[in-house]
Amino acid sequence: MNIGQEVLALLKEEISEIEYARYIKQLNYDEKKSSAHMALFHAPNALIANWIKSKYKEKIAHLFEVKSGMKVAVQIVLGDVVEKQKSKPKSESVIHNSLLNPSHTFENFMVGGSNQFAYAAVKSVSEKPGKVYNPLFIHGGVGLGKTHLMQAAGNFLQNHGKTVIYSTVEQFLNDFIRHVRNKTMEKFQEKYRKCDVLLIDDIQFLSGKETIQEEFFHTFEALKNAGKQIILTADKHPKKIAGLEKRLQSRFEWGLVADIQPPELETKIAIINKKCEINRVKLSKDIVYYIATVIESNVREIEGILSKLHAYSQLMHVDITLEFTKNVLKDHIKENRANLTLDSITQFVAKDLNIKPSEIKSKSRSKNLVYARRIAIYLCRELTQNTMPQLAQYFSMKDHTAISHTLKKISELIENDEDFKAKISELSNKITSSS
Ligand code: ADP
Ligand code: MG
Repeated sequence: MNIGQEVLALLKEEISEIEYARYIKQLNYDEKKSSAHMALFHAPNALIANWIKSKYKEKIAHLFEVKSGMKVAVQIVLGDVVEKQKSKPKSESVIHNSLLNPSHTFENFMVGGSNQFAYAAVKSVSEKPGKVYNPLFIHGGVGLGKTHLMQAAGNFLQNHGKTVIYSTVEQFLNDFIRHVRNKTMEKFQEKYRKCDVLLIDDIQFLSGKETIQEEFFHTFEALKNAGKQIILTADKHPKKIAGLEKRLQSRFEWGLVADIQPPELETKIAIINKKCEINRVKLSKDIVYYIATVIESNVREIEGILSKLHAYSQLMHVDITLEFTKNVLKDHIKENRANLTLDSITQFVAKDLNIKPSEIKSKSRSKNLVYARRIAIYLCRELTQNTMPQLAQYFSMKDHTAISHTLKKISELIENDEDFKAKISELSNKITSSS
């Protein structure tokens, strides 16, 4: 028995048989790739991987520490990564830095208004690497698909025989330090300057790190001059990354800068359906719709939610119904919206509709104010824990029946008026993603 198996055997003692059989037993310890400080496990699918990450990872790390006396970082990756490597003859030309996630493909990426520009840019760069936009710089908020899109290009180009390096800034930095320490800088330079395609994720972490910026500058120049494709991502536009050298900043804008916005409702629905298909989870339309309205912009939450639903339904032997989904997601919603207040929502709506917050809260019956007030009331009800009397007081209405009446009216509008529904969901997305 290797240490990984021993740790899992210890864990078996601590959890129920069914949990063990369903999740832990599915893990495979990768002895070759693990080290004294890192334990790598493969899980057969994303659901199991996510579930284990959220529920058992810390326990596993703790057991490793107990067994080996050293702090060990536990990593759970998808199983088919190993399968592919085994079956493929090892090609000298493919140097992996960190593995590309094989499910991050163009086919699995759902395109909508929020990401179509970035998608089109990445697509065209994949078809003509080094020829159209170099570098391609993608920016956008957390969990909006930057890494997925960048890796889709990586997977595509790798399948077309290109040498692709994918690396986060952190890995690039660690690699650099290691080579400096081992006095093997020429190896480092060869690795990063001889590839066909360099993907660097989360460039904002270069901020304030001068030495690595210097090194990255030379890597960039070498690749760019050799006509090799560079794709970068960050959480903001290069201009807005503080602590970034001017020469890098300007170079990042040389090619094309494309942004990804929070997804619209339809795109979220398409993404959820796709994730269900990939993870073989069956959900009814109303549940998919519900999840799409509950999650705000961060698409990463979808996978967590699906694995939660899947795991709970398995452990409790129940079907995934809408009621069940609502229950499972209750905490999730509360946690995410804790910081939204009546004031912040009202201010947001007022700003968006170009009126004053005080006007929304006034008693005026002018048409545009009634419209704004309805939207604000609805969003406050949806996004905060305030009761109807509290809302009545805040919006200068007579009592809770007035609020209840307004909410009923809004529900009718949402049902019958597509524009109104779209406006509500747009604002809801914006508010929750900015909170
Ligand atoms: P970021 O790098 O922008 O923080 P990721 O690329 O890691 O976000 O995306 C988070 C999760 O959401 C991933 O599981 C990814 O597959 C998924 N995702 C994001 N956007 C889309 C999309 N348009 N279609 C399908 N999946 C998406
Ligand atoms: Mg990312």
